Amino acid sequence: MDRVVWFLVVSQRLDPAEPAPRRQPIRHLYVHTPFCAKICPYCAFYVHTGSASEMRTFLDALLREWERVSRDYPVEAETLYLGGGTPSLLPLDAFRRFAEAFHPWEAIEATLEANPRTVTPAKAVAWRELGIGRVSLGVQSLDSEVLRTLGRRHTAEDVKEAVRTLRDAGFKNINVDLLFAVPGQSPASWHETLGGAIALGPEHISAYELTYEEDTPFFKARAAGIWTEDENRSIEMYRTAWRLLEDAGYRQYEISNYARQGCASRHNQGYWKGNDYLGLGPGACSTVGLCRWQNRRDTERYIAALSAGQDPPREHEPLSEEQRQRERLLLGLRTSGGIPASWIGGNSDAALALTRQGLAELSEGNFRLTPEGRLLTDGIAGLFV
Ligand code: SF4
Repeated sequence: MDRVVWFLVVSQRLDPAEPAPRRQPIRHLYVHTPFCAKICPYCAFYVHTGSASEMRTFLDALLREWERVSRDYPVEAETLYLGGGTPSLLPLDAFRRFAEAFHPWEAIEATLEANPRTVTPAKAVAWRELGIGRVSLGVQSLDSEVLRTLGRRHTAEDVKEAVRTLRDAGFKNINVDLLFAVPGQSPASWHETLGGAIALGPEHISAYELTYEEDTPFFKARAAGIWTEDENRSIEMYRTAWRLLEDAGYRQYEISNYARQGCASRHNQGYWKGNDYLGLGPGACSTVGLCRWQNRRDTERYIAALSAGQDPPREHEPLSEEQRQRERLLLGLRTSGGIPASWIGGNSDAALALTRQGLAELSEGNFRLTPEGRLLTDGIAGLFV
């Protein structure tokens, strides 16, 4: 699941309520595939294992959900994000049927999340033919020890092979997802992973700090004192990423995201601007106007409801305009574009103090945090909401 949506879901409590009213066309679609070959011990997304036949049944249900959603909401998709889970695990025959029926596939930016081990020449060619233009590879690290700690099954060699295969199939837009502040990961290991990722030549690199999500084995290991967090080490690793990636020509356009010129993710930018989006699949979240809802994290009930001609079970939350504006402000401060200076009008003294400390800058009518300031985004946002 996209991390921005995850942030929005975990920061709200969703209650049953009525669906949102019809509004302007929706420009952003997210599709959640809950299947993974193995569950990583730090992962809190809605994921589970499953057979090929279970994946085919899931895809049938997904198509039914799409029929219902596209009947209820006007959709003119500019971006489509196939996340999970591991959508690259889906059997090609079922994926093809889904793609052919799912016409927003022609969206301007269509991204598929992939595990390096699942990328085969046949799949890569088919994904490309079916209109996928961008692949986001879950690499996390190129250090075998760190990969072992994270419970990942792929190797650095698998990553190189996956990138070669995607390039051979014609992909011109590849993202590499990396994690830092992993238990046992040294600054030297992080440095080497960043260097290795840059050498792969992707158009986009995401560098996320590991978070200890509740109910995961990692969370329990930290609670038991087996692992400890080191804030200073995390900050240093963030700075290393910023320095190496910027030097290599990747611009930080959000606290965790770096892209070559013209390759920033349009889908994520849609979230950060506070645009409406629809999410399909179990556990997927949608926000339309002043309503947010989440499909329940239950694949069996999801399939059963859609097979019976019903909507999947959902939880709804009415939003206020103030709440959406707060989210726009918080997400906007994480980006290099920042927020309109008018949004902080009531607290310009604090804004000026931040600019004097080198944590923010005011220019062209925008207030934006510097890379150092972005380290303090949550605290700074608290000054303005
Ligand atoms: S592969 Fe990704 S989605 Fe699947 S369990 Fe691991 S971290 Fe979670």
